[in-house]
Amino acid sequence: MMFDVPKILDIIKTRNAKTVGFQFPEGLKRQGPALAKEVEEKSGALVIVSGDPCYGACDIDEGLLGIVDVLFHFGHSRMMDDERIVFMEYYHDVDVERAVINALPLLGRKVGVTTTVQHIHKLDEIARTLKNADREPIIANGDSRVVYPGQVLGCNFSAVPEGVDSILFVGTGNFHPVGMRLARKLPVVAADPFTGEARLVDVEKMMRQRYAVMAKAMDAKKWGIIVGMKPGQRRMELAKRIKGLAGDAVLISIREITPDRLQSFKVDAFVSTACPRIAIDDAGMFPAPVLTPIEFEMLKGKRKWEDMAFDEIKGD
Ligand code: SF4
Repeated sequence: MMFDVPKILDIIKTRNAKTVGFQFPEGLKRQGPALAKEVEEKSGALVIVSGDPCYGACDIDEGLLGIVDVLFHFGHSRMMDDERIVFMEYYHDVDVERAVINALPLLGRKVGVTTTVQHIHKLDEIARTLKNADREPIIANGDSRVVYPGQVLGCNFSAVPEGVDSILFVGTGNFHPVGMRLARKLPVVAADPFTGEARLVDVEKMMRQRYAVMAKAMDAKKWGIIVGMKPGQRRMELAKRIKGLAGDAVLISIREITPDRLQSFKVDAFVSTACPRIAIDDAGMFPAPVLTPIEFEMLKGKRKWEDMAFDEIKGD
């Protein structure tokens, strides 16, 4: 990635910042020291690089934020308004056309177009490729948790348009397309610009895994209700509501939710109100079942089983 050093220097100068924080997602962290050195030499400011894990714009290092004049958070688009934080987005300069062309046979006529911030600058090109193939691309605005039309997060699919007959996701990984498939009950085609491959997203395997986790939690008597301590993952009201439904339950605040940390709590099952990915991505590793709030509601008869949905964190 090319970092926008002139912009960083300009912000440091304009704000007369003496101490500066850098926060990178895992994939960019190794570039932190070289960038810190360059910025220190050119600006005279002291740079501190966060060594804690960072998985999204929700994941602000508040400890570091408390001791610097400005915190540059790299790789993600803005999620919260705090003038001390500067979100520095990160774009992949990879060709998307091949993957979109390969997706065409799997798509309907009216196509909802989605991607992550890393490919958001290719949205016009994606739409053009679809139009050239006689498709009607629809790009919708999301809520305040995302910045760009068509942009999705692993926890937010508000930019998936209504009234389409299929959804195209341009990006990598399974999590976003599976989430959209569950959220909108429409065919989702995932097109990976790095491999050029396109596939229809199948949620069967994941659904089976989730039902197995729910089955294990069926007889739970003691519950741990997890409140995520990362700023963009805190859902206190939801956690309180779930605790009210759970009966014998304790609220547990955690920043990094790992199997080891949950091991200390002798409860039969957990509900995570933090990042929705945690319950799903790490399902096999936890010492007890970890449900999403939606799954918990289903288990408690507060939601119909056919209304199974993906846990989303909504903006305004
Ligand atoms: S809550 Fe999870 S899915 Fe949402 S932005 Fe944060 S890390 Fe990503």
